[in-house]
Amino acid sequence: VSATPPAATPPRVVVTGGAAAYDIRDFLTRAAVPFEYLDDEGPEDVAVCTLDDGTCLTGPTVQDVGRALGLVSAPARDSYDFAIIGAGPAGLAAAVYASCEGLSTVVVEEWAPGGQAGTSWRIENYLGFPEGISGAELAARARHQAEKFGAEILMLQSMTEGHPEDGHFVGTLTDGTSLRARAVLVATGVDWRRLEVDGVERLLHSGVYYGAAASEAPGMAGKEVYIIGGGNSAGQAALNFAEHARTVTILVRGEGLSETMANYLCQRIDQSPLIHVRPHTEVVGLDGDEWLHSVTIRDNTTSHEETVPADGLFICIGGVPRTGWAEQDGVLTNATGYLITGRDLFDPEVTGGRQARSRPRDPYPLETSLPGLFAAGDVRFGSTKRVAAAVGEGAMAVPLVRRFLAEG
Ligand SMILES: Cc1cc2nc3c(=O)[nH]c(=O)nc-3n(C[C@H](O)[C@H](O)[C@H](O)COP(=O)(O)OP(=O)(O)OC[C@H]3O[C@@H](n4cnc5c(N)ncnc54)[C@H](O)[C@@H]3O)c2cc1C
Repeated sequence: VSATPPAATPPRVVVTGGAAAYDIRDFLTRAAVPFEYLDDEGPEDVAVCTLDDGTCLTGPTVQDVGRALGLVSAPARDSYDFAIIGAGPAGLAAAVYASCEGLSTVVVEEWAPGGQAGTSWRIENYLGFPEGISGAELAARARHQAEKFGAEILMLQSMTEGHPEDGHFVGTLTDGTSLRARAVLVATGVDWRRLEVDGVERLLHSGVYYGAAASEAPGMAGKEVYIIGGGNSAGQAALNFAEHARTVTILVRGEGLSETMANYLCQRIDQSPLIHVRPHTEVVGLDGDEWLHSVTIRDNTTSHEETVPADGLFICIGGVPRTGWAEQDGVLTNATGYLITGRDLFDPEVTGGRQARSRPRDPYPLETSLPGLFAAGDVRFGSTKRVAAAVGEGAMAVPLVRRFLAEG
């Protein structure tokens, strides 16, 4: 099975190893590194990656592969004007505008650029792309644009902690390196909500997946695919799996898709003979030894349970903000963990009555309770969960950061 990107590009890596190689395949796909996946060669339980220079890595971590490909680097400077945490659309847009305006800018990304948008098969409602653009291509273009203006993008590095110190923010990266910047933008987005059903963790990447990774589509040829979720991400995934799979079934708790999914996706799903929608349902059980074999579905109107054969289950229920670290640092979030910014910091219904620490002036729009720490995109309370909105907020953050830096 040959995976994305298209075969015209010679592979830089050949990957074997079934479920053990899932993260590596996902990373290479999202980092736009051409690779070939041989799913019927090599042992199932050990990933093996052969690079185009002949290097062979047995059982590597994603970081090992990233390092071998020269994709992992330490910050080039001791200190930056502006650090951006997260290279989704919000972070990449901020990086483009900040670096083209001359701010020394670094972006820290724990996986590969693109964020959630980078996992989208086809974004059709982003301005300027009437035929749509794949998330991977949009991410690759944005990364290139940011780097062209001089932004540094550190991949496979996560910001694990950060605090103000002597007029700077000092953060710690996964590898222990510390990063100093005068202002910071948090653009860490949201993660998939976990499915609390026995067997999910055991069968994860062996037929069960969070999101609908493009790297898995060829492997679903002729198979029975189930998707949980009624949002646009579930709809895009269903339409794309329908090009490969035998049938695709979308499971939703509600009445149907029209309330939660864009109209153009609903119409195409209606027209596809291979896609079925089962309203008022939820998955209550999974079975399989080495690979997912069946799912048990409950009809919530009748409580009837049915076990059906399934080769792939893709869980597309989103919406957990990635701000665990914020609480430890005393940055205000709302009850569900989204970062509160601007005027919302004074609304007790949003803050739950908690007070921001005392500060010399009112917060700027997009500024959190900590002066100089900004938030943009899906992670921000009150944001519109769309690519264009995230890009807009990322761009808008830059003049606000400049105002903060001008305070001296
Ligand atoms: C499958 C799918 C399809 C979609 N399709 C559409 C569409 O067609 N049209 C549309 O408008 N919207 C679509 N969306 C929604 C859109 O992608 C999001 O609204 C948008 O990506 C939000 O951008 P963001 O930059 O705020 O966050 P994200 O895209 O979530 O990016 C956040 C980034 O931060 C990184 N990160 C998180 N924590 C850390 C940390 N501690 N250190 C370093 N990095 C970190 C993550 O790895 C990630 O790369 C889709 C979403 C999904 C999942």
